[in-house]
Amino acid sequence: MKQSHTINKTFYIENLGCAKNQVDAETIIFMLGESGWSRLDSPDEAGLIIVNTCGFISSAKQESVDTVLEFRSKYPDKKILFAGCMAQRYGDRLHEDFEEIDGVFGNSDLSLINEVVDLLWSGNRPLMLPSKPSIPEKDSLQSFKRKDLLSFPGSAYVKIAEGCSNLCSFCAIPLIRGKIDSRLIDSIIQEIKGLLASGIKEINLIAQDLSSFGMDRGQKDLPELLREISKLEGDFWIRLLYIHPDYFQDEILDIMAEDTRILPYFDLPFQHVTPKILRQMNRKGSSESYSELISKIRQKLPNSTIRSTFMVGFPGDNILHYRELALFLENSQLDWVGFFVYSREENTKAYDYGFKGFDKMRSRIARYRKKSLEILQQEITVEKLNSLVDTVVPVLIEEEIPDEDLYIGRSSFQAPDVDGYIVVEGTGLTPGEIYTCRIVRRNGFDLSAVIEK
Ligand code: SF4
Repeated sequence: MKQSHTINKTFYIENLGCAKNQVDAETIIFMLGESGWSRLDSPDEAGLIIVNTCGFISSAKQESVDTVLEFRSKYPDKKILFAGCMAQRYGDRLHEDFEEIDGVFGNSDLSLINEVVDLLWSGNRPLMLPSKPSIPEKDSLQSFKRKDLLSFPGSAYVKIAEGCSNLCSFCAIPLIRGKIDSRLIDSIIQEIKGLLASGIKEINLIAQDLSSFGMDRGQKDLPELLREISKLEGDFWIRLLYIHPDYFQDEILDIMAEDTRILPYFDLPFQHVTPKILRQMNRKGSSESYSELISKIRQKLPNSTIRSTFMVGFPGDNILHYRELALFLENSQLDWVGFFVYSREENTKAYDYGFKGFDKMRSRIARYRKKSLEILQQEITVEKLNSLVDTVVPVLIEEEIPDEDLYIGRSSFQAPDVDGYIVVEGTGLTPGEIYTCRIVRRNGFDLSAVIEK
């Protein structure tokens, strides 16, 4: 790639993948900002393009590579840095084979971003795959000074732990992000206080598995963290994203019942319900145990929202397992569900499970079953949304639709990006603020509302 002698200290960052990656992108933005770099909203004028990639499953990896190639063909002379999870997982290979990129930066120690950028501008083609950061940085996970957030106004993600030690057999996350590494409670509380003081209304706590928080120091610290958050003054929403159902801690139900600011929103990735498949996945549950968990939640918190994800096409998953899953969905009436087709990931334990050359057929069947389950669940979700019509709910406004007297927002039962929207009719509303609204109708998987007088 061409070298530039006058440094254009502006960059554009394209963030792919999950909320954990978004926090990393926000941390990179902060770190570069400290060295005089400015983030631009478009790559057109930027001196550097950073693609913060996802490397979790094959479709995400494909998207990462495609995105980089699109940038390269549109901007042949700009420097492009391949960063994030896929960089961490396949850095050596990418650096060797992918000539379209100017450098590779893994995600284990984001404080090194300025070094990478200096190397880029001194004519090098860096490959930086740092090992885990040292303890002082670990305590902050380098994230709590973030100022320029990529979320809509009023909302922020707070990462409370990095990595995962659960070792689900299909999952490449521990290969990329290592074992669980929990932040100190005090550091998280300080970060939340800072965000609330800056006007944030919704804090989404994230980790690969929130229920494992503190396990690396031999403690189950999620309830303690929630109790500490509960001591904070003010009106805000705390949303818990990703709780492994096998390690659910019942205490959090009591804390939520006492403090309604901690939303009764449960993101429980069950993945499957058949014990045989779950054991192969290195997970403990069953249809019965997961039904019991759902009942327990609904008994204690009748207004709760439950989201889950399920995987189809895992090795050994057959028509009987599919029927058991469909029956579970019918019986449990979950609010929101995402379905994924199993992705065979190298270096995971499940990689060699039962594969004898029928991958294409297996994946076609899995895609068909995924579609059928989606149709089944869509009817359930639509009924749930219909039952919300004419109720009054708080709505966090995300953005205004220009020239339409309409705003897009979400309520407490809708997590960012995944659970649909509420379109609010009105004028003079401020993005980032919460308004009391009456739901007037359903539109597909979204809702329409008016301001409640
Ligand atoms: S709990 Fe989630 S992140 Fe951890 S190994 Fe299992 S699937 Fe992967």
